[in-house]
Parts: sequence; C-alpha cells; structure tokens
Amino acid sequence: MSKSNSCSEQEGYMTNLKLLDDKVQDIIRQATEVRGNAYCPYSNFQVGAAVLCQDGTIFSGCNIENSTFTVGICAERCAYGKAISNGKLKFTAISVVAYQENSFTAPCGACRQFLSEFGNVDVYLSKPGQDEVLVVTLAALLPFQFQTVDHKFV
Ligand SMILES: [Zn+2]
Repeated sequence: MSKSNSCSEQEGYMTNLKLLDDKVQDIIRQATEVRGNAYCPYSNFQVGAAVLCQDGTIFSGCNIENSTFTVGICAERCAYGKAISNGKLKFTAISVVAYQENSFTAPCGACRQFLSEFGNVDVYLSKPGQDEVLVVTLAALLPFQFQTVDHKFV
C-alpha cells in the first residue's frame, strides 16, 4: 500500500453491484440469500456472508446465536468455517449483507482477527435488495493485526 493512496484504501469506496465482477456479484447474492437462514432470536439482526475462494468456489454462512450469548457465531466465521472444513485456505473476497438504515455492517473485531489468519481479502459490504456496495480491504479494517512472528500467512 503506497502512502499516497493509503487514505482512500483505508476508507474504502462506494460502487454499484452491477459494476462488480460476476463472482463478486455471486458472493453478494449468496450472502443475501443465506441471510434468510440466520438464527438470531435474541438480536433479530440477520447477517449473511459469503467467501470467494481462490479457486472460484464459494461458501456462505449466517449468524447463529445462542442463549449463552458468547458462544454464538457470526456469519463471516460461519462461512470461513465451511470453506476451511472443505479444504480451502486461500481466499480473495468476502461479502457481508445486513440491514442497518444508516450504515453498512462491517465484520466485528473478532471476525476481523479470525479472517486475517488466512490473509488479506477484499470486503464487500451491502444491504439486501440494494445496489450500493461499500468496498474495503480486511487489512484496512484491521491495522496492526495480531500475529506471531513465525506464522505469517498473509
Ligand atoms: Zn463477527
């Protein structure tokens, strides 16, 4: 990341769904769809995510809450878990779809750390049924990622 454009990379940029690559449109579509399966009786906040693997395969996930709140899992980690358990370790992008009127929903801090274990990816944030997409990178969302010296996956 060069110094001259680090500011814009940090903030991300807005684009239109229809201008994105087919595969990226796919992960947004799949995240929107799987969001309907969210198990969230406590928050009623549905989130869908889908990860695009380097080989072109896609895995989606939704948030799954629990009466013991802390053992619930976010959509992003659910999607990554499905991908990793299917033997995937290289990822290029993730989409996150949720609805908040005044903002996009970005991965929580725990997910940022979890995802960063497997390298930087482009992050596409959108709302169901809307064409506006906020594009940012995981590296921008998680500066100074925790990692041990001997294990740097990125
Ligand atoms: Zn999370």
